[in-house]
Amino acid sequence: MQQILSGLHEECGVFGAWGVHRAADVTYFGLQALQHRGQEGCGIVAADEGGTLRRVKGLGLVSDVFNGEKTMSLPGSIAIGHVRYSTTGGGGIENVQPFLFRHNSGDFALAHNGNLVNSSELRTMLENQGSLFQSSSDSEILAHLIKKGPHAPDAPRIDAIKAALNMLEGAFSFLIMTNNRIYACRDKLGLRPLSIGRYKNGYVISSETCAFDVIGATWIRDLEPGEIVTVDRHGIRSNRYTDDLRHAMCAMEFIYFSRPDTDIEGTNVHTFRKESGKLLHQEAPADADIVVGVPDSSLSAALGYAEASGIPYEMGLVKSKYIARTFIMPSQDLRDKNVRMKLSPVKSIVGGKRVALIDDSIVRGTTSLRIVRMLREAGATEVHVRIASPMIKYPCFYGVDISSYEELLCASRTLEQARAAIEADSLAFLSEQALFEAGRRSDLCLACFNGKYPTKLYTSIEQANKDGKF
Ligand code: SF4
Repeated sequence: MQQILSGLHEECGVFGAWGVHRAADVTYFGLQALQHRGQEGCGIVAADEGGTLRRVKGLGLVSDVFNGEKTMSLPGSIAIGHVRYSTTGGGGIENVQPFLFRHNSGDFALAHNGNLVNSSELRTMLENQGSLFQSSSDSEILAHLIKKGPHAPDAPRIDAIKAALNMLEGAFSFLIMTNNRIYACRDKLGLRPLSIGRYKNGYVISSETCAFDVIGATWIRDLEPGEIVTVDRHGIRSNRYTDDLRHAMCAMEFIYFSRPDTDIEGTNVHTFRKESGKLLHQEAPADADIVVGVPDSSLSAALGYAEASGIPYEMGLVKSKYIARTFIMPSQDLRDKNVRMKLSPVKSIVGGKRVALIDDSIVRGTTSLRIVRMLREAGATEVHVRIASPMIKYPCFYGVDISSYEELLCASRTLEQARAAIEADSLAFLSEQALFEAGRRSDLCLACFNGKYPTKLYTSIEQANKDGKF
């Protein structure tokens, strides 16, 4: 069971550029803007004018892996890139993307954001048919399906890609690159975001629109669930790989993951969070002197809470800019150390005050406990914790590291037990209905809150379900 729950669960970012001078350089800046989605490794593949695909990849931040010299070795006007986060067991250079495949029908590269729920079944099937995998990542499966499908290798690639995508279940935003083309693909539930923009005479594709603003590109549109957009010398063309569509955008993209300056399907992330903070105050007002947000992803919700309550917003916590995000550190020990390093209470602000502490979510509860204690040590008389999302009770199988049932604070605790565990004076969570109101949409995946997974979870996990393991 533990193996199932702590498998390859990743939250990553993809970026691509087509018809762009020095595409690898532009991709480098795009990946920098997506760095918050993955900090353990990154890579870029570019196609030079002769059609040769070259790759640079490595472990670490984009600025560590790449410098001027490294991107200089990637000439050409087409490139795709990837930033990666992985859990324990999923790390290592072999799993850093994009993957690059050499094939007699033409080389191609692939970058993936998301997680497939039927990867072990597909991998077993492919290995039984003779496939040799370069990595333990589920992302490589698509490449093997494309090359082994009934349409490969002679039929147009789009047919092979469609057939392969139809075999996948789960969350994916894929970029597939050949020496003259990029295919951008989004899963049929639209779980992970993917947008396309115009950059000079070419096109760019990104997990988040914030990357367009950074490089000066103009947003064109978001890909639809189940859509494949082909980008080549003919411009952009749209195909669907299935008619079996049901939108279920990951609510955590709005709540926690995406940058506040990103727009997801017409809704700005900061606006969503601020609205959720207002609704949180309506549902759970607190008797407090000041509102304090946990930097950075909770600041928008804290602003909304303060605005709705009339209680002044204060900067009661300061974050070190140079420490990585806690949630995406790969082990509990590293996460504990990281919390101590990255947040400091401002004594002169919180001393003698009743604090309404706003956070976006509670996963393990370690961060919340430490912050409540820090605020008390700094002189806060009361700490009322308000969470701008519902209680997380279930693991995510779609690429977010909410990996183990046992690690989730709220999985087996009542509200009162959760409050006691984080030592808060009071604790309240936002309702599911308020999340729908905040985004003015109800087609969201909320599976980690309510256990209603929008896909089948496949044999081994279903068996675990039957066994009452989660
Ligand atoms: S289970 Fe939660 S984190 Fe995973 S895709 Fe659904 S909403 Fe997002």
